[in-house]
Formats: sequence, structure tokens, C-alpha cells
Amino acid sequence: MTTPMRAEPIPFTSDDYATRMARVVDDAVEAGLDGVIVTPGADLVWLMGYRPTAITERLTMLVLAPDERPTLLVPILEKPDAEAADGAATVRIVDWADGTDPYTAAGRLLRPNDRFGISDSAWAMHLLGLQSTLPGTEYRALSHSLPMMRAVKDANELGRLALAGEAADATYGEIVQLRFAGRRETEVAADLARLLREFGHEQVDFTVVGSGPNGANPHHEAGSRVIEQGDTVVLDFGGLRYGYGSDTTRTVSVGEPTIEVSDVHDIVARAQQAAFEAVQPGVSCQEIDRIARATITEAGFGDQFIHRTGHGIGVTTHEPPYLVEGETQQLRPGMCFSIEPGIYLSGRFGVRIEDIVTVTDSAGERLNNTDRALRVVD
Ligand code: ZN
Ligand code: ZN
Ligand code: ZN
Repeated sequence: MTTPMRAEPIPFTSDDYATRMARVVDDAVEAGLDGVIVTPGADLVWLMGYRPTAITERLTMLVLAPDERPTLLVPILEKPDAEAADGAATVRIVDWADGTDPYTAAGRLLRPNDRFGISDSAWAMHLLGLQSTLPGTEYRALSHSLPMMRAVKDANELGRLALAGEAADATYGEIVQLRFAGRRETEVAADLARLLREFGHEQVDFTVVGSGPNGANPHHEAGSRVIEQGDTVVLDFGGLRYGYGSDTTRTVSVGEPTIEVSDVHDIVARAQQAAFEAVQPGVSCQEIDRIARATITEAGFGDQFIHRTGHGIGVTTHEPPYLVEGETQQLRPGMCFSIEPGIYLSGRFGVRIEDIVTVTDSAGERLNNTDRALRVVD
């Protein structure tokens, strides 16, 4: 295991977080909002590096509004954790105590009758509490009002995504040297998780091992099926390294593949490459999906490509932008997303190939580079 690894990323600074918050406020104003309410989850991690240890029923929310200091409302018992967050210097922290009404405290941070974007993951209980405290205030889902909030990555974020991709490449390099035939999917999945951690991931999010007919179910995780000689196996694995995601899929053949498997794999590889080559600033998300789909449809497998072509990636492994029909958002330099076409032959086998791609000033660039040819394993 002597894969050269890049240098560790530099920590995010208060300036980084302040820049992100300012950008969100600008985008919010442009979207016709008076501010943004962020509750615990990926957006809060990205905006201020704060990941409450337990997401509890107690209200925590960050309020961002033009010309106002960003303010974080926290339960008083969690205040020390909030103050220790990397981006804490950028915000004013206000607390509320058990036995008092958090929505009254929250109401003091919001102007009545304003229009706010609010995290999709906000508990309904909290939104309903806010609504009854400030009945004239309007709330919009953040994913709808600011869908591209985290989509464009800065240089430090891109470096972390590249490090995650490099670790995924190294993981694949090792897994294909291990035995597949005669072992259960769960055993191979455990190896994938172990390797991701060995190569620096602090969190493993998924280790899909779809052998034979299980490969025809795109989100099959891993089960007790014993992998057989002649199977194709879909391996889709990823997690977080330095807080940023990896997500790679390769399909391997246990022993020499049949002509049919080779052909299907070749079609998927061509679709993936065509979509990759189409990446450049200004192209719409749906256009990338259409290009991948056209290759597969022309080869006669359009009905067997049963999911969108890709999803964004950053502090989570699935986030906007989505490469899907109907998404007219244009690609911008710094966006990162998967390109992962597949063909699923129900009851028989599946093939998917997935890379993480970023948009440069003129083209696409892969953040994981392991070979895409159909690999024969033992
Ligand atoms: Zn998925
Ligand atoms: Zn994946
Ligand atoms: Zn993916």
C-alpha cells in the first residue's frame, strides 16, 4: 500500500466561512429572500464548521440576513460546542435555556413579515413553532430557493475532494487484487470499508457490492449472496475524507466476461465518457444527462438506465446539482458531481461506471482516475 498521497489540506479559516456566509446572503437577496435560516445538517457544516454532536429536539439555528451579523441560536448546554466550531468567530452566539420558549428567542432574531429560506432538514416541529410565533413570516425550502448554495467549490474544497478521490482510487486498486469468487458480498463490502479508512477516510457512507442479479438493483447494498465464477459485480463505494466526499463505481467480472457483459460494459463506458467530454461551463445539467442517455438509448438499453446521470458532492455524498432531465442550471467552474450511467438487466446483472468530475474554466476534470476498463478479478 504505497500509494503516494497529497499533502494534508490547510484548515478552513474564519475568512473562508465569512466568505461563504456573505455569498449565501447575496444569493438570498437575489432570490427575493430577506434571509436564510440554517438548522443542523450539511449546510451548517459548510457555513460554519459546526456539527452538533447530537441533533436533538432542542432548536439550533443560524440566521443570515443582509446588513446583520450572522447569529447562531443554540441551547445553552450546547454553547461550548458551538463556540468551538471553526467558524464560530464569524457569528454572534445567542442561547436559550430549557424551560423557556425557543421560538420566542428565535422570533427576536427574525423580522416579522419577512421571507426566509429554511433548511430542508429543519424539523417540522421547529418550523411550526416559528410559524406560530411569527405568523406573518414566510418560509421557503432552501433546496428550492438556493439550490446551488454549496455547489461551487473553492480551491481548498477541490483539494479535499481530490484527496477523497485519490483514496477511492487506492481502495479500488487494492480490492481488485482480493478474492471475489466464493466470498459473500458482505465480506467484500467489509474490505471496501476497511480500505477506505486505511486510505484516510474518516467516514464510510456506502459500500455497494451487487453481484450477479443483485447488480441490477442500483441501490442494493450488500447481502449474504456468495459471489460466483462468471458474475459481474458492481462496486460503489465512498465516504468522507477531510470532511469531503468520494463516490466511485466500477464493475468487475469474476473470471472472463461473456461477450454480452463486455458489450454492455462498453456501452456504459462510452456513455460515461461522452457525458464527461461534454462538461464545460455554461452547459446545462440536463444536457449532460441527455448525452449519457442518448448513447445508451441508441444501443437499445434506454429503458434499462433507470436513474439520473449524477449528483453533486461536497460535505455530503449526494447534493445539488443533480444531472437530471428538467435541471436547467448551467455548469459553473468549481462545481463537482458524479457522472454515473448504468444499465440494469433485471434478474441478470448490472453495469455502472461512476467518477467524480469537477468543472474547470473550459472542460471537465476527473477527481478519481482509476482505470474504467472492465477488470477481470478472481
Ligand atoms: Zn446513489
Ligand atoms: Zn456511487
Ligand atoms: Zn453517486
